[in-house]
Amino acid sequence: MWISLISYPESGMSGSHGNYTHSVNFSTRMSTNPITGADDMVLLTNCELQSRVKELAQQINFDYRDKGEIVVIGVLKGAFMFFSDLVKHLTIDIVVDFIQVESYEGTESTGNVELRHQPTVNIRGKHVLLVEDILDTGITLSNVFVFLSLHDPASVRVVVLLDKPARRQAQVKADYTGFKIENRFVYGYGLDYKQRFRHLSEVRTIK
Ligand code: 5GP
Ligand code: MG
Repeated sequence: MWISLISYPESGMSGSHGNYTHSVNFSTRMSTNPITGADDMVLLTNCELQSRVKELAQQINFDYRDKGEIVVIGVLKGAFMFFSDLVKHLTIDIVVDFIQVESYEGTESTGNVELRHQPTVNIRGKHVLLVEDILDTGITLSNVFVFLSLHDPASVRVVVLLDKPARRQAQVKADYTGFKIENRFVYGYGLDYKQRFRHLSEVRTIK
């Protein structure tokens, strides 16, 4: 079975670097889960992730080159690995902070977004870049937007590693997207399956 992962360097103040499609032949991606030994599949290898993360950082460096200090806020817990890889490639002036929200129980969103940790940096008048793991229904990001806008930032942009457009409910769009994927539950590279497997270096999906 072939699955298309459309990777699209979109938006930014500078325009696009061009679109391309990355196709995955699942029969070549079968791989046992290293912790449980269960059959599953690698959707994105660490090598594929690293090269895309670097491209996203280059676009962000260009777009924010004359914007002064940027507050880069990671959405915990899922974005922690993407966040740390991304900021290593940023050459602009940044301060980092984190926000933690929770909406998932097991593999399903409850639709109820709870704020568990707020950023401590003052974002009033600052350009904010939110770093999120997945944009799915959009409910999480739309709630985070509302929360941040209460603190009067100069702007808020969003970079997401993965976009699952099939399940969108809220009107939100990422400014920078790593990979657009079909509607599958994924884990690894920061993302959990019932709080496990966040430390795996690739994005996996259940067979
Ligand atoms: P949304 O509110 O857009 O539906 O969901 C956003 C959050 O749900 C993401 O930040 C992520 O934490 C979680 N999420 C959505 N899809 C998946 C998935 O396939 N796997 C995992 N582990 N988390 C997901
Ligand atoms: Mg998340």
